[in-house]
Amino acid sequence: MIEDTIQKAEGTGKLTVDEIEQLMSITDKNEMEELFAAARRVREKEFGKKIFTYGFVYFSTYCRNNCSFCIFRHSNDELGRYRKSVEEIVQLSAALQDSEINLSDLTMGEDPYMIANDYEKFLEIVSAVKDQVGISIMASPGAMPQHMFTKVRDAGADFYACYQETYNRKLFESLRLSQSFDDRRNQKIWAMQAGLLAEDGMMIGLGENVRDRAETIAEMSSLGCGQIRAMTFVPQPNTPMQDYVQYDSTDELKAIAVMRLVNHDILIPCSLDVEGFAGFNSRLDAGANVITSIIPPSKNLAGVAQHEMDIENGNRSVAHVMEMLDKKGLRHATDAEYRAYLSAHRPKRVA
Ligand code: SF4
Repeated sequence: MIEDTIQKAEGTGKLTVDEIEQLMSITDKNEMEELFAAARRVREKEFGKKIFTYGFVYFSTYCRNNCSFCIFRHSNDELGRYRKSVEEIVQLSAALQDSEINLSDLTMGEDPYMIANDYEKFLEIVSAVKDQVGISIMASPGAMPQHMFTKVRDAGADFYACYQETYNRKLFESLRLSQSFDDRRNQKIWAMQAGLLAEDGMMIGLGENVRDRAETIAEMSSLGCGQIRAMTFVPQPNTPMQDYVQYDSTDELKAIAVMRLVNHDILIPCSLDVEGFAGFNSRLDAGANVITSIIPPSKNLAGVAQHEMDIENGNRSVAHVMEMLDKKGLRHATDAEYRAYLSAHRPKRVA
């Protein structure tokens, strides 16, 4: 019975892959509502009304890779690319800090300029944001060699994000062309060994089936990451997958709720990158507790899945997010509350 499985997850935080698949297969509206309500109860029990917020600073859209789903892939010649200076990145992070956003997510494609000489420029950016701003930092530079993780930690990063997208090895290889599945999985483990919190993520609608989704949720949950996410794939122009039909958000919402039920106390994003502000309520109602990809308007910054969605109209700005949280009876977590969460969940450094 679906009810029993939901109850078991709510009580224990544990489900088998078969049980996760059972919940991910729900189509009945009432059962889905039960699933979301249980996920909200778990969030409320662990976090109260607190919701965290992350700003998104996509500072370089150059990339050496050719992921088949991504608009920033190397061979997309149609794209006007940019690379922000250290000063601009510091200013953007300072603006996020001034707006009381909890974390600055410093993201880039695997930009050859940034990764040359053992990631010299990237480390310079992380250190500058740490020293000159002091906001909590997520480092999202793509896959790195193992020895880089302690350097990124020492430069001042708190989190390291690297999404597997799927734990179906064959599908992975068709998406992240010429990249190693095991190396990407290990990124999260190496990050945690270096004392960083890690984030993993799955994409929905890339050709996977419901069993793949269940196995991916189980695998992400078993790694011990501080944050895991699900996002619906949005087909991008000038990519090999441009003609894929986009899913609606139902499976993403179910994934958010199931991830919450099997990971009671971790961070799960409500991403504004898929549907812009239209997806805000539904993702929070499914048990998410971090608003991600808050992007200040008029800064010429891109998002990821929807690289323009709701940015220039200010709908992904801080003021708008705070107002909407208030309307839902939730509240924005303070900097001290976020840092306390990080301290309590930071893996012990062993590398
Ligand atoms: S997903 Fe990341 S690594 Fe792959 S092409 Fe896009 S920016 Fe590069």
